[in-house]
Amino acid sequence: MRNTRLLLTTLVSIASCQASSPTATTGTTTGGTTGTNTGTTPTGGSVDASAIYAAFGGSGVVTRNGATVVVTSTNIPDHKSPYFQPTDARYEAYNGTNTRFVLNPNRIADQLLVYRITSTPAVAASVSATPLGPIGVTVNGVAIFNQYAGPNQPLTNEIDSFDQYGGHPQQTGQYHYHVEPLWITAKVGKGGLIGVLLDGFPVYGPLENGKTLVSSDLDALHGHTSATAQFPNGIYHYHVTADSPYINGTGFKGTPGTVGR
Ligand SMILES: [Zn+2]
Ligand SMILES: [Zn+2]
Repeated sequence: MRNTRLLLTTLVSIASCQASSPTATTGTTTGGTTGTNTGTTPTGGSVDASAIYAAFGGSGVVTRNGATVVVTSTNIPDHKSPYFQPTDARYEAYNGTNTRFVLNPNRIADQLLVYRITSTPAVAASVSATPLGPIGVTVNGVAIFNQYAGPNQPLTNEIDSFDQYGGHPQQTGQYHYHVEPLWITAKVGKGGLIGVLLDGFPVYGPLENGKTLVSSDLDALHGHTSATAQFPNGIYHYHVTADSPYINGTGFKGTPGTVGR
């Protein structure tokens, strides 16, 4: 029976993340709803969010083209993982807390991902659903994926393949986080800036003003507007939580940029 379960788990892992595409910022949606947006930024318009990118390093290189920030990344995490080849110095056997951990068959491979994101995000008139594949990028240059393993498929089976830092690679070796990137929050703190979504709004860890947030503290898109360390005058921002949908909810608050090669 145990072998059967392992085989089934492996098959699920192989099938997961298949629809992700580095060029898909439109097209396939993932079950997120769309609708009219509510709320505005504190200024009633766009906010200069350039301060986000001071935190970037790792495999992500930031350049600017007018109001567009261009993050070019090889997408290699700056931490070890059981998803590097065992002969690689960056390999580290799984040492996390999930007793059901199962290594998926994919291994981390270099990517060339080019994110084009506005440096002046604004609340869009309507919510756009997030695509499969990258929906944002972390301060260490790694892709952020949404809360789905495939079209309308919850992450249930994928979660057991997340490594000790919360990520895993999909079938082309593209490493990504669907949940809190534990390496980053260990470095910047549980309330620190961990990345940005394609709409230009920042993503923070789960802790704010001494409270560990849960999804019910946030709006349907998994964010809210308040002051943050980088934006003392307030900005709309997303939070990672331990409960689903983890990073983003039913879509982008702003207008998403693009990610391609
Ligand atoms: Zn995944
Ligand atoms: Zn907040």
